[in-house]
Amino acid sequence: MTQESKYMSNRRSVGKVRPHPTQNEALMFEKSAPGKRACKMPPLDVPAVDPASLLGADVRREAGLLPELSEIEIIRHFTRLSTWNYAIDLGMYPLGSCTMKYNPRVNEVVARIPGLAEAHPYRIRSHAQGILEIIDLLQRCLLEITGMDAITLQPAAGAHGEMTGILLVRAWHESQGRPRKKVIIPDSAHGTNPATAAICGYAVENLRSNAVGGIDLEALARQVDEDTAALMLTNPSTLGVFENEIHRIADILHARGALLYMDGANMNALVGKVRPGDFGVDVMHLNLHKTFSTPHGGGGPGSGPVACKAFLEPFLPIPVLVSEADGTRRWDYKRAQSIGRVRAYYGNVGMFIRALAYILANGPDGLRQTTEDAVLNANYIRKKLEDVYELPYRTPSMHEVVFSDRKQAAKGVKTGDIAKRLIDYGFHPYTVSFPLIVPGALMIEPTESESVQELDLFIDAMRSIAREVDEDPELVKTAPHSTRVSRLDEVQAARKPVLRWRPASQ
Ligand SMILES: *Cc1c(COP(=O)(O)O)cnc(C)c1O
Repeated sequence: MTQESKYMSNRRSVGKVRPHPTQNEALMFEKSAPGKRACKMPPLDVPAVDPASLLGADVRREAGLLPELSEIEIIRHFTRLSTWNYAIDLGMYPLGSCTMKYNPRVNEVVARIPGLAEAHPYRIRSHAQGILEIIDLLQRCLLEITGMDAITLQPAAGAHGEMTGILLVRAWHESQGRPRKKVIIPDSAHGTNPATAAICGYAVENLRSNAVGGIDLEALARQVDEDTAALMLTNPSTLGVFENEIHRIADILHARGALLYMDGANMNALVGKVRPGDFGVDVMHLNLHKTFSTPHGGGGPGSGPVACKAFLEPFLPIPVLVSEADGTRRWDYKRAQSIGRVRAYYGNVGMFIRALAYILANGPDGLRQTTEDAVLNANYIRKKLEDVYELPYRTPSMHEVVFSDRKQAAKGVKTGDIAKRLIDYGFHPYTVSFPLIVPGALMIEPTESESVQELDLFIDAMRSIAREVDEDPELVKTAPHSTRVSRLDEVQAARKPVLRWRPASQ
């Protein structure tokens, strides 16, 4: 087998094919020809009405500039575009901190049951009891998993959950008659944490990690004061390191009236093993689209439930799901201390159904096994790569492992170059240059979805790239070589994003 086919044999090959000569930019998008149609309308069998007589001056006089295409051209266009993308359904997606795990098909089947997929938020209460029961059951499962007392499923993403959680913290401090001014955030935090604190009106204070990538307890004790509203902590951290001193961290905060917020995006390392509610966390969010296998990426609907201890419950967003004495359920809107709504209706209900299907299909033992496999996979990669890539923190890894490009940088090859070369080997890149406390970070999270064969293929690709860095660094620095477009102007893309295609004739 050639080098190329070894990595490509089990995945799409379109990335290797040179663009078809007719697939230049203009021809790819400019397919419209006047008069083409994808459907045939039956002849008009009612009297024609002048639209202006119905809509008056508002009626549009000229037809809009819409593409005119046949059905097969539309199908081919979108199918072709879909093959240019990478997906978890095509291969390993080791994007660290993102938990890009497989989305089991059973979740999709359940979410498409018509009574669930078509449930309308304005459905009358007696007709909505089934879906309310599903929501209630998911809430109870998540409370059991986190060890917390109360929960809202409303937030639509992890960052949105963070905002909701910190608003609960703020409302609680205000209710105590002593609003506070700052939130402490370790330097290993996800970028959304400081953004959240700032958007909730707090000053952000940075806390430096210690030599093993954890919280420096003495530094924390010095920093927490009467103005500290909370510490926002990711556990395990973005280094994939579990915070062993979490109990003492909680004690330090609580002794000064501050709260412990846990960013639970990394719960894939903890589910079924430990519960944040048992180690002092007051409020946290979960990412159903990470840990609980609902689809993720493409800006699609996410879900970032927020779980909290009982004393924060009065502040939860409205409406809150409550059970009546007769066993039926209803939404409660009359909650004087609520922070208000954070999302239309009740959140992304389709994600709740998928997450619940995943939880029930696995059961407690299955979820625990998932956690163990996720941690095992990350440590397998760590062990098999630590002689070729530098491991800046030797603290035991949980569900992800962070290397640095220090050895390769000596040859002028950076983490971003290695990531781009990985695309040529048929893998989605790992997370590049994050966490920020590791210069030139390679952050790898395989998740439990991968078999040992796939992990070996990935390890082999990473080792092969390390050899290329020694023998032919240019090859890596100019990668990818197999994709339709190679290196994009990332600065232009960020500063002047072109987000909308317009017909050439406009
Ligand atoms: C993904 C992630 C978030 C944000 O979640 P979104 O759903 O992308 O908003 C926050 N913190 C950590 C540690 C994460 O990995």
